[in-house]
Amino acid sequence: MSDKRIYLDDNASAPLRVSAREAAVAALGIGNPSSVHDEGRSARRIVNDAREAVAALAGVSASDVIFTSGATEANAMALDPALKVNGRTVTHLLVSAIEHPSVLCGGRFPADRLIVMDVGPDGLISPQTVEAAIADLPEGAVPLVSVMAANNETGVVQPVVEIGVIVREAGGAFHCDAVQAAGRLDLATLTADADMVSLSGHKMGAPTGVGALILRGDRVSFGRPLIGGGGQERNKRAGTENVSGIAGFGAAAKEASAVEGAWAEIWTLRDWIEERLRAISPDVRIIGAEVRRLPNTICVALDGVQSETAVIAFDLAGVAISAGSACSSGKVGPSHVLEAMGLEDGLKRAALRISLTRETTRAEAEAFVVAWEKICAPVGARQSAA
Ligand code: PMP
Repeated sequence: MSDKRIYLDDNASAPLRVSAREAAVAALGIGNPSSVHDEGRSARRIVNDAREAVAALAGVSASDVIFTSGATEANAMALDPALKVNGRTVTHLLVSAIEHPSVLCGGRFPADRLIVMDVGPDGLISPQTVEAAIADLPEGAVPLVSVMAANNETGVVQPVVEIGVIVREAGGAFHCDAVQAAGRLDLATLTADADMVSLSGHKMGAPTGVGALILRGDRVSFGRPLIGGGGQERNKRAGTENVSGIAGFGAAAKEASAVEGAWAEIWTLRDWIEERLRAISPDVRIIGAEVRRLPNTICVALDGVQSETAVIAFDLAGVAISAGSACSSGKVGPSHVLEAMGLEDGLKRAALRISLTRETTRAEAEAFVVAWEKICAPVGARQSAA
C-alpha cells in the first residue's frame, strides 16, 4: 500500500471542498454582519449570499434558512415543546429509533412526552408505523414527528416524503434531519413536505461548526429561541454569525446542488466493493442491502470481527473507516441503530462503516479490499470453520 492515507469516512466528515476553503478563508475577520458600516455590510452580503445558496439546495426561500453551529444545534432547536403548528402548540414528540442521538434525546421535550417508533429489520421506518403512533396519541394531541432522511450508519434512505404527508394531514409538524442526504440525494424533493429540515456543513464539504435549520414558510413557529440574546437570524438564533463558516457552507451548498449523476461512479465503486467482500468472505452481511441506500455507504458485518479492533488495524494500514457512528466515537458498546434493527449480537459487535467520498478512486477501493483480506477475512474464515 502507498504512504498516502485512504479516507473512507465521508459520513463522519466529508473532505473540505476547495471552493469552501477559499470562501471561508476570504471571509475570516471581515466584520460583524450587524454593523451598519461598509465592513459590516460586506459581511452581511457574504451571509446573505450563502443563505441564498443553502435555500436553493433545499428548495426553500432564503428567509426560511436559520444558520446554526451545526445539525446538533438545529435538531435541538427543532425539538421545541413550545413549537406551534397552525397556532396549536405541539404536545408529543415522535422519533424513530434510529435517529442521531441529538434527536433521540428528545431535545427540550420531557421524557413522558417522547415516543420512540420502531424500525424494521431492514432499517426502515414504515409510514404505517408513524400513522399508527399518531393514532395512538390521546384525543386532541398535536404531534411533532422527527424522522431522518438517510441514516448515518447504514445509509438507509427513509420514506420521508410519505411520512411528511401523513404528519401534515394529521395536523402535526414534521422535522427531518437531512444531514446525510444533502448533497447526495435531491434534497428539495425529499424534504418538500417537511416543516423543518436540519443540515450540517461539514457533511457537504464545508468546514465543521456550521449548519442550518430550515423553517419552511409560516406553518410552524417557535415558542422561544434555544439561544436568546441579540436579534440575529430574525430573532430565532442569537449570536454574531460565524461568517467564515457560513461562507464555506454557502460555497459547498452551491456545488452540492448538482447531485444528478454526481455520485454515479461512486455508486458503481461501492457496489464493486460489496461484490468483492461477498466473494472473499461469503458469510459477510451488508446491512440494509435490501432497501434503498445512500450511494456511498457500506455498513458491513462479519461474525467474529471486533469492530473497534478492526478500525485500529485499518487505521494502521492507512485506511480511515469507522465502527458505527463517528458521533459516538469514544463510546464503546453496540450501535443503537443496529440494535433497533434487531441485528444478532455477533454482527452488532462486528459492524464497520465504510463511506466513500466524492473523490474516492478505484485504486483506493482496491486498497481497502486488500486491507479487508488481511484484517477481516481471516477472522471470518476461522469462524465458519469452527
Ligand atoms: N444528524 C446526523 C444524521 C448526523 O450524521 C450528524 C453528525 N454525525 C448530526 C446530526 C450532527 O451534526 P453536527 O456534526 O453538525 O452537529
